[in-house]
Amino acid sequence: MKIKLLHSAVFLALMGGALAHAQNYPTKTITMVVPFAAGGPTDTVARLVAQSMSTTLKQTVIVENVGGAGGTIGAARVAKSAPDGYTIFLHHIGQSTAPGLYRKLSYNAIDSFEPIGLVTDVPMTIVARKDFPAKDFKELLAYVKANKAKVTYANAGVGSASHLCGMLFMTAIATDLTTVPYKGTGPAMNDLLGGQVDFMCDQTTNTTSQIKGGKIKAYAVTTKTRVPTLPDLPTMNEAGLPGFEVAVWHGLYAPKGTPAPIVTQLSGALKVALKDPAVKQRFADLGTEPVAEARATPEALRAHLKSEIERWTPIIQKAGVYAD
Ligand code: ASP
Repeated sequence: MKIKLLHSAVFLALMGGALAHAQNYPTKTITMVVPFAAGGPTDTVARLVAQSMSTTLKQTVIVENVGGAGGTIGAARVAKSAPDGYTIFLHHIGQSTAPGLYRKLSYNAIDSFEPIGLVTDVPMTIVARKDFPAKDFKELLAYVKANKAKVTYANAGVGSASHLCGMLFMTAIATDLTTVPYKGTGPAMNDLLGGQVDFMCDQTTNTTSQIKGGKIKAYAVTTKTRVPTLPDLPTMNEAGLPGFEVAVWHGLYAPKGTPAPIVTQLSGALKVALKDPAVKQRFADLGTEPVAEARATPEALRAHLKSEIERWTPIIQKAGVYAD
């Protein structure tokens, strides 16, 4: 009985501490981990959201880039971070493909995190170096099928969106190309601009300005419908790969055990960011838009992540792609 009472007292003291902590939150800088290199598409989304959240939370939200292994190094870091609201994590669809792709992960994509909310769905584009010989998607298909492993294709490592898109592309055309992994498609884009790699599949948040500036060639978008900012680009369906569809959803998380009142506060700040006219405008310029308010919630992200893991794992297993 005494022990029970003592346990209750300790529990109440701990709860009281957590509550007091949540009430004062935030009192210092918050770090938003992005599991890819700076200057890439996920970094771009994160910096826009972080800036707006800083205003709402009245504390600086800095972005820290922890790239490598398709986003799994950053995810592992966050899973081990203190669940105090001062480390948060912006990741994309890779959070749902990594469990199928990696034989071993030091974290659990669902259980090691507290979901905060969905952020945005970003279309992808098939792009190539400026002097790549193919004029259109049909020619691109013919070229890569003829040249196979001589063709180099950049991605951000196994588990990244560019890897997923490339894997689906190679499976669809039954041709293996030579993949060149980077810590993010930010640095991959530099090599594409420099002509060191042939092509990649990357998000409009990274490719739009380079396409519009005529610095790279673009062949198709991976969404069901055309992207308003790039109206001349056909969908993969129109271009000749029926049924090929990928959009890169992004979500915001905290480490497991982050107090619920803090998660609620962060979700509230995310909702404000997604309604911020500056964020909306920049997203629109980059071919994407914020999710509807009802999806910027822990419940919506939790359900979406679960259903995406269920959707991708069998597809990945069928493609026979694994990483250690
Ligand atoms: N989103 C990644 C990045 O920011 C790239 C990728 O997933 O392919 O670099």
